[in-house]
Amino acid sequence: MVHMMNVEKTSLIPSWQQEMQSAFTKIDDLLQFLALDLDDLSLHYKAAKDFPLLVTKSYADRIVKSDWHDPLLLQVLPTPNELKRHPDFLNDPVGDGQALVLPGLLHKYHGRVLLITTAACAIHCRYCFRREFPYSDNSAHRSQSELIKQYLINHPDVSEVILSGGDPLMQSDEKLQHLFDLFEELAPIKRIRIHTRLPVVLPSRITNRFLDILSKTSKKVIIVIHANHPNELNSEVANTLLLLKKIHVTLLNQSVLLQGINDHAETLVTLSHRLFECHTLPYYLHVLDKVTGAQHFDSPNKMIFDLYRHMQENLPGYLLPKLVCEESGKAHKTLIATAR
Ligand code: SF4
Repeated sequence: MVHMMNVEKTSLIPSWQQEMQSAFTKIDDLLQFLALDLDDLSLHYKAAKDFPLLVTKSYADRIVKSDWHDPLLLQVLPTPNELKRHPDFLNDPVGDGQALVLPGLLHKYHGRVLLITTAACAIHCRYCFRREFPYSDNSAHRSQSELIKQYLINHPDVSEVILSGGDPLMQSDEKLQHLFDLFEELAPIKRIRIHTRLPVVLPSRITNRFLDILSKTSKKVIIVIHANHPNELNSEVANTLLLLKKIHVTLLNQSVLLQGINDHAETLVTLSHRLFECHTLPYYLHVLDKVTGAQHFDSPNKMIFDLYRHMQENLPGYLLPKLVCEESGKAHKTLIATAR
């Protein structure tokens, strides 16, 4: 773990950038922090070679110590399972490459475009469907603003811009302001949707300046947080989401169904209730995208159907996320029917 010994603190509360500098990047450091020990970590390190460990201290604090099976730990710890290969698991399982219309701009769905704003994330989720994505050639840089603007002018049917990544909130507030200013000039754009894990894994990212940017835009703002387990939603996360709710941001959640982590109906029912306490509505429950190295997180179909039926029986409709999967080349997500 890289400690911030030399940082001159200007306030008692470290900035989110300072918190990122003290994130765990070494498997040994994380395991030591969690009071876990293993003689030989060589295969864990091999698994982390191209997609390294990255975990914020805030997130690591929510992992139960001395528990190899903790559902938050399993989301971030590189394991030898990732070294296995399966022909159904691909580097680009959702066909992002085919939907690129400009570097970093995907036009896959009617009326919406998706902007890959950055490769950076605050944590590395081992199941990430973009873990193999070639970000260096396919991120939207500031120098491309005019090209993006022109594309949107030429496509007035696009009414929603989705900011994705990486994690779009890893950009500075100044860069986000620049993007919001660009969209402000385009009347057909009605909504800005931000897909981000930062309110959950690095709540301090929701700065006053960021709240100010959101408050001042004329567009509707939707933030889709990515929480997979109720243990992720501590009181700090709840307070952060309340700040967003108070400025009328629509808060939604999408989860990925992950074997060994949240593949129990009771866990997902609890997650839905906890999300509602945190002012957030469950939106999607995603079946795992079949990305290389993530096959150990996959669940059999029958188990998925049984689990979802149990959720249906135990949740009011407004707390039941839609069960979906993404099929490469399709112009929409596929709703999965579970009726017998
Ligand atoms: S935060 Fe999102 S983009 Fe980043 S590693 Fe996790 S799932 Fe992937």
